[in-house]
Amino acid sequence: MDMPAVEGSASTQASAADHQKAPDAVPSAKPKAVPGPAHQDHESKHGGAFFMALDEKHHVEGVLMSPGIFKVFLFEEHSLPLSKQEVARANAKVLWGEHEKAPELAMKPSADGLALEAAAPVKVVFPLELTLLIRLPGAAADSRPELFTFPFKEFTHDHTTHKH
Ligand SMILES: [Zn+2]
Repeated sequence: MDMPAVEGSASTQASAADHQKAPDAVPSAKPKAVPGPAHQDHESKHGGAFFMALDEKHHVEGVLMSPGIFKVFLFEEHSLPLSKQEVARANAKVLWGEHEKAPELAMKPSADGLALEAAAPVKVVFPLELTLLIRLPGAAADSRPELFTFPFKEFTHDHTTHKH
C-alpha cells in the first residue's frame, strides 16, 4: 500500500516518499494493474442483490428496473464488470415468478451489451421472486446451469444510472 504523500512534510521524509511514489520503482513482478486479492468486494454495484458464483471466479448481480426489466450484471473475481464479449458468452434464462407455470424467458444482452436482460411477461406485482438459471462464461454448454434467486419487494434504484 502506498503511503499518501503529505504536502509540506519534513524534507528529510519527502525524498523517501517521492521515491516510493515513483512508478519506475514498483517491482515489475507486481504490475500496478492487478488489484488486491479476489473476493474482497461483495458490495452491490447497482443497488441489487450481489452473489458469488460457485466457480468462485464470477459474481452476479440482479436488478429489477421499472416498469419491468430484469437485468443481470456479471463480474469477475475482483468484482470488476465482465466485457461485452464475455457477457455475450453467458447463457441465461429467468423463471418469472414462483408458481409452477412461471414463464421461462431467455435473457439477451442489453442494448449496451454490459448486462443480460429480460422484459416482464406480465405486469409486475410485488413481492416478486425471479430465479436466474445461468451458465457463466467458460462453463460447458452441457453443464448444469447455476441457480440464483432474487426476491424483489420493489423496483431497484440503480444509482449508477443517475446522471450527475
Ligand atoms: Zn467473491
